[in-house]
Amino acid sequence: MQTLSIIPPQFPNLAPLSLPERLLLGPGPSNANPAVLEAMKTPPLGHLDPAFLGVMDEIQALLRYVWQTQNPLTIAVSGTGTAAMEATIANSIEPGDKVLIGVAGYFGNRLVDMAGRYGADVQTITKPWGQVFSLAELRAAMETHRPRILALVHAETSTGACQPMAGVGDLCREFDCLLLLDTVTSLGGAPVFLDEWGVDLAYSCSQKGLGCSPGASPFTMGDRAMEKLHQRNTKVANWYLDMNLLGKYWGSERVYHHTAPVNLYYALREALRLLAEEGIENSWRRHQQNVEYLWAGLEDMGLQLHVDREFRLPTLTTVKVPDGADSKAIARRLLDEFNIEIGGGLGELAGKVWRVGLMGFNSRKESVDRLLEALRQLLPGK
Ligand SMILES: *Cc1c(COP(=O)(O)O)cnc(C)c1O
Repeated sequence: MQTLSIIPPQFPNLAPLSLPERLLLGPGPSNANPAVLEAMKTPPLGHLDPAFLGVMDEIQALLRYVWQTQNPLTIAVSGTGTAAMEATIANSIEPGDKVLIGVAGYFGNRLVDMAGRYGADVQTITKPWGQVFSLAELRAAMETHRPRILALVHAETSTGACQPMAGVGDLCREFDCLLLLDTVTSLGGAPVFLDEWGVDLAYSCSQKGLGCSPGASPFTMGDRAMEKLHQRNTKVANWYLDMNLLGKYWGSERVYHHTAPVNLYYALREALRLLAEEGIENSWRRHQQNVEYLWAGLEDMGLQLHVDREFRLPTLTTVKVPDGADSKAIARRLLDEFNIEIGGGLGELAGKVWRVGLMGFNSRKESVDRLLEALRQLLPGK
């Protein structure tokens, strides 16, 4: 008989997991609410257990509330925000469709890359990182390109800017075009009115403004997007994210599609429950108050903010790195010496800004005080 040899473990005496406790004030993840982590410990149920299906129904109802939408197809995608992003693209685009994408930061570019992979004829409208599109600029681009879909990033996490949405939905209807919106860094922390804004497809994540762990991501599509889905000539090119199939698991048919990450759904349910208990408008107010407290503290230290006040996000602030300071070294010392994580700049803003997130559970005065105190020690002369 052939003898098979065992490959020995690489770490034979590995200790149980033990990691430092950090205050996560970067672009995400943010710290999950302790009650959310507690809920995640609940033993798993089968993904077709009636008790678990009840949890899924509650998640759907809670998501409609925090997004301010009545869309029946409002679900959590198993995966991070990028999976939910891909779900909007995969279900709305057919090869050859003209898609206009607003690019004013890193995540606009990710949408361009993704839409291209699904065969879209991608056109872009661009702005320097940190700025937003005016309605007139969007109208001019719509007139030039006449797209089937306009995709925008509401809260551009790479720049800290918030795209104004007034009038955009009407513009899209005038041009018979779907409106797709990234609300990853706004949902829960900044006002979002999906139905009033006329948004047809949107996605988010769990680990930013919702105060949850990553891995179960909000997705929604309205009637006009459903109609386009039903009129497709080609199958949705992504089996895992096909809403024709996922809708049957989340809807009344309850057809097996994939094994839901049940503990993450417990966590998301608890995070959303807490948000509903607080009241969504109170959460928006809390985020706004704490971020204004942060801005005032940073400006008191002589630091400058990258985005014009009118367009700043309540969830993510870009702070200019002062002349002569080493942005990476300071972020590293914040982590090593103070257990605080902040983010560096991406793309056009690499080395020029730090990114400070005050999202979900972390949008608290104590978080701001801890960060300001640490920065005072690390930035000489501040
Ligand atoms: C974080 C983020 C994403 C991606 O979400 P993941 O959960 O990291 O996959 C997409 N868009 C924006 C604007 C983001 O901030």
